[in-house]
Amino acid sequence: MMDAAQFRLYGGVNVIGGTKLHVDSGDGQVLFDFGATFSPGLCAFDHVLKPRPFREVEDNLAIGMAPDLPGIYKGAAQLSTLSVFISHFHLDHVGLLSLLDRRVPIYMSEASRRLLRELEVIGEGIGEHDDMHVFVYGEKVVLGNLEITPLPVDHDIPGATGFVVTTPSGTLAYTGDFRGHGLHPELTTAFFDRLGETGIQALVSEGTRAGEDPAFPAQSEAEVAEGVLRVSERRRSHVFFTVYNRNIERISAFAAVGRDLSRQLVLSPETYHLFRTLAPQAYATARPAVFQLHRHGMEGLPAYIDNQAVAVTADDIARAPDAFLVELPYHALSELVDIKPVSGSIYIHSDGVPLGAYDPAFANLKSWLKHFGVELAFVRSSGHASPSFLSECVTRAQPDILYATHTLHPEQMPSPPSGMLVLPHLHRSYAIGRPGGH
Ligand SMILES: [Zn+2]
Repeated sequence: MMDAAQFRLYGGVNVIGGTKLHVDSGDGQVLFDFGATFSPGLCAFDHVLKPRPFREVEDNLAIGMAPDLPGIYKGAAQLSTLSVFISHFHLDHVGLLSLLDRRVPIYMSEASRRLLRELEVIGEGIGEHDDMHVFVYGEKVVLGNLEITPLPVDHDIPGATGFVVTTPSGTLAYTGDFRGHGLHPELTTAFFDRLGETGIQALVSEGTRAGEDPAFPAQSEAEVAEGVLRVSERRRSHVFFTVYNRNIERISAFAAVGRDLSRQLVLSPETYHLFRTLAPQAYATARPAVFQLHRHGMEGLPAYIDNQAVAVTADDIARAPDAFLVELPYHALSELVDIKPVSGSIYIHSDGVPLGAYDPAFANLKSWLKHFGVELAFVRSSGHASPSFLSECVTRAQPDILYATHTLHPEQMPSPPSGMLVLPHLHRSYAIGRPGGH
């Protein structure tokens, strides 16, 4: 039996995303999140260079993309006792799940489970898995002498969760990703208030926007619809947009704007499916059409698109520039060749990929739009807490130690009012509280 329960980070250190938080009490062990980290200098796979079929585990381990934890990967001779908990379904938190042995227990929220089911349908899931659990917010999951209490937080995807982990030596909390300017800020503040009431020794928090200039506050989620309306009203031209389609509330916002503009919402097949199944009411009101891309003209629409769906082609969009509000993801930009955007057309970037200049595809997106004379506008709302909200949350939580993760500027994270800020190292173990209690 070890002296105190410990934790270790296998990702998310000095980088945005890829958090993999391993908590071990000797009697129970849990891994929070299992995403891929993309950091400069580290080898990575991309959409061209891929792991070899049936060698995904070996290839990811060999280049340091997946952590060297025994007994958890596909083909493990002896399974470890580890369970995996998922905070939310962004790729930087779940991207490596498909490497797990299908018998490793995975826990997630009800909304995450619903999302995953539909992601499987559109080919963006994790594949078959035998041991999947849905946790109930506020109800403890007991694993050995660890007690894990999941609680909701607000982020730009359904089902985001933070966790309180009680160990024999102390209590740790893990935030996942969170914000205070979404549509449900009260969830996030309730989470941090609960930490303050519980009394926690270690808070492992994301700090994506730590160090950001507070003079440029980001837009709230509620302001997105207004912003989209502002840049697109009075245009008689084409209006395109891109979103991350796991952000179901954002799709609903575009649906509402489509109604205000009297433009028919047109969604890519993948987004159409997620919207129809995960926001059935907003879907029924919006009655969006599905974008039949050039390749669907040859292969047909994906089988998951219902027969009743109204299909719209690039030619339809070309003929009626002011009739549609069109989701045009990066991968489908070549449809512009047939759409032939008219003068005054606009492309609204609302947090779809490529997200920013760090992605080489971003420069390419800009040159495509320039080539076709389409104006680029940004109407976005970050999924992450502003610096001032981070500070407020840390003050509410009052941890003894704040461990800064999921940020390029850990040193800019707020110090807890009566505790200390620690910049954790990758793979180093940290004690949670003191042996024999606190
Ligand atoms: Zn996230």
